[in-house]
Amino acid sequence: MSDNSLRLVWVYPDLLSTYGDQGNALVVERRARQRGLDVQRVDVRSDQPIPTSGDIYLIGGGEDRPQRLAAERLLRDGGLERAVSNGAIVFSVCAGYQILGNEFVNDVGERQQGLGLLDVVTVRGEGERCVGDVLADIDPRLNLPPLTGFENHQGVTHLGPTAKPFARTRLGRGNGTGDGTEGAYNDTVFGTYMHGPVMARNPQIADLLLKLALDVNALPGLDDRWYEALRDERIAAATQPA
Ligand code: GLN
Repeated sequence: MSDNSLRLVWVYPDLLSTYGDQGNALVVERRARQRGLDVQRVDVRSDQPIPTSGDIYLIGGGEDRPQRLAAERLLRDGGLERAVSNGAIVFSVCAGYQILGNEFVNDVGERQQGLGLLDVVTVRGEGERCVGDVLADIDPRLNLPPLTGFENHQGVTHLGPTAKPFARTRLGRGNGTGDGTEGAYNDTVFGTYMHGPVMARNPQIADLLLKLALDVNALPGLDDRWYEALRDERIAAATQPA
């Protein structure tokens, strides 16, 4: 980060922005400004090059065909991989998460190469599509309150040895492998199946990205009573006897 200025890059809004995922950029931007940062937000369409000087990159979910096109273009561009090797932070949702992995199965049933930024492989789930509310406990090493969200995906994601599970589900399917894992991360690259949009329901994640970008352990607190009330409501609903 240069001075007090944060460069936030929203990747391919024309292809990857379902279920309000663009809200993630709004939340990161607002919470950064509330901490006195000057935010420069860059929305990069899929016919434009990915800038390599961003601090935080956000990638949303998408339908199967746009996902294939986005992966092809990102791989051809190479900018996101260069940004990560320079220390950039990436947070991805659903189709974006699958694209960051080593490989996924695309809309025409072929195995397609991903960016290899996360050690995960996504196959097409044989069972019912994973759709519904999710409640999950984030990896304790990240020291964050539980994650709530909404998932809608057919892909099932298997984690390789260098990917850590982002969270463990109490409710919902997460990676869909049946092992209770949800999402994955490694160093500064994160992936989740949570829509919602995830930051609007879980501002602790926006703050995690900001802390990484600023290289600090804590940020000035904000009034998060609305978020906390929603989280408490989802935890109560998930733990209520049927
Ligand atoms: N097309 C992917 C799947 O179904 C991702 C869907 C999404 O981004 N919501 O697995």
